[in-house]
Amino acid sequence: MIDLHTHTNISDGTHSPEAVVRRAKEKNLSVIAITDHDIVDGVAEALQIGQEVGLRVIPGVEVSADSRAGAMHVLGYFIDHQDETLRRTLKELRSYREERNPKIVRKLNELGFDLTYDEIKTKAGYGSVGRPHFAAVMLEKGYVSSIQEAFDKYLKAGAAAYIDKKRLTPANAIEMIQAVGGLAVMAHPIRLKLKDEADLEQLVGECVEYGLDGLEVYYSDHSPELTRRLLDLARRFELLVFGGSDFHGQNKPHIDLGVGRGNLHIPASLLCAIEQHLRQRSEIKQ
Ligand code: AMP
Ligand code: ZN
Ligand code: FE
Ligand code: FE
Repeated sequence: MIDLHTHTNISDGTHSPEAVVRRAKEKNLSVIAITDHDIVDGVAEALQIGQEVGLRVIPGVEVSADSRAGAMHVLGYFIDHQDETLRRTLKELRSYREERNPKIVRKLNELGFDLTYDEIKTKAGYGSVGRPHFAAVMLEKGYVSSIQEAFDKYLKAGAAAYIDKKRLTPANAIEMIQAVGGLAVMAHPIRLKLKDEADLEQLVGECVEYGLDGLEVYYSDHSPELTRRLLDLARRFELLVFGGSDFHGQNKPHIDLGVGRGNLHIPASLLCAIEQHLRQRSEIKQ
């Protein structure tokens, strides 16, 4: 079993990189990828613990792009996480969060909730501050009875305290990932705001033009039916197939590593195709 989409407390998960790796090992996973939002500062620790416990860790990242279908998340895999240009760009993306976050606090205050940005930042600790941290503070203070309720009522796109943030374009996101040797993958298509299947096909086609390498087919919120359709789409566009749970620890309490909501199964064989592609690409470069 493998899981190619996980978050640590370096972004909006609740487990440290070490804890994610150890949990994956306990759950008998063979490979995981660390894909924090807009930050790669958890990768080094995860790689080191992975070596210690004998679990393969793929360095990754997840960034948001503005598409005509709303915010599109792009995953990057096998990136050079130490690259200075990448780190600078990610820092800039985090600064867009810094512009947005105090505005969310203000909106929530206007709605009558007593909370400060310092409290949110304390909750987030080191790293990338995201909406799940707002939800977690609201839950702690008894303003909502679950993280999901905080999103549904206040934080999700279009809700009362939602504030948009500046993002990359899909082309820029793909380019940023590939510039540091990575594979660029369209995350969880279910989250996109699309009219129908033809619309999805068109969007994927556009991203393929920009160089998209893969599609996240296996995902905690994808039905078996959608998974089948995405597999077919990936085959038609010759895209690599990826899969992950989007583990966030207690910030998504129903989703666990590897198994998602309990019925996710991501075939380890996906990695064969992915690695073959990487080998071919490095041969072409030589
Ligand atoms: P942000 O990085 O601040 O835009 O927050 C993005 C994160 O919030 C995602 O990775 C999810 O963990 C979570 N999230 C976004 N939309 C929802 C939603 N409608 N319900 C629950 N969680 C969500
Ligand atoms: Zn997240
Ligand atoms: Fe995402
Ligand atoms: Fe994610």
